[in-house]
Amino acid sequence: MAEEVLMNLGTDHYSILGLQMTATTQEIKEAYRSKLLSTHPDKLILKGGGGDGNTHSKVPITVLQIKTAYEVLSNPENRLKYDDRLVEFRKLHGLSSGSSSDGLDIVSLDDFKQQVSDDDDDESEEECVWVKDCPRCVSKESFVLTDHDLETNGTAYDDDQDLEGQAYEVVVQCSSCSLWLRVKYYMFDD
Ligand SMILES: [Zn+2]
Repeated sequence: MAEEVLMNLGTDHYSILGLQMTATTQEIKEAYRSKLLSTHPDKLILKGGGGDGNTHSKVPITVLQIKTAYEVLSNPENRLKYDDRLVEFRKLHGLSSGSSSDGLDIVSLDDFKQQVSDDDDDESEEECVWVKDCPRCVSKESFVLTDHDLETNGTAYDDDQDLEGQAYEVVVQCSSCSLWLRVKYYMFDD
């Protein structure tokens, strides 16, 4: 029950703070401060009509709700878990966030920028990295895939295109807004 309340549109942690799921850490912080300021306990009583909360139109947001929302969303690990549950919940209740069937957008590795990390000291450690800006929170190069990720974390699958390599896909997460992308790429045997 409590879980449901935290997940429902309008009472989830993001709505409490007046934020989208794409909000940045900074936005969360600012929203928290301004909500706290505008949600003084005295004001709540006035808003609720002075009674014991039998409000029909809009349930007033409590300071506790704001604090709970901020505690969860300001902690990247907790936010991640919450996001997952929220997405899952909305899917169950037909409130899809509007991406592909499993909720993940599909991109090609071609959409990533390739970078070679240059550790001057150790040439054997030279590694290719693929980076991409986040389409959701617009963070710069917040998606990062390494050679290692591609070689070990990819899942092989059949695709219709008759290319010589084996098609793989790997999921990668934005480091700042927790958006997941499904990345397709090919690997070729030497
Ligand atoms: Zn992002």
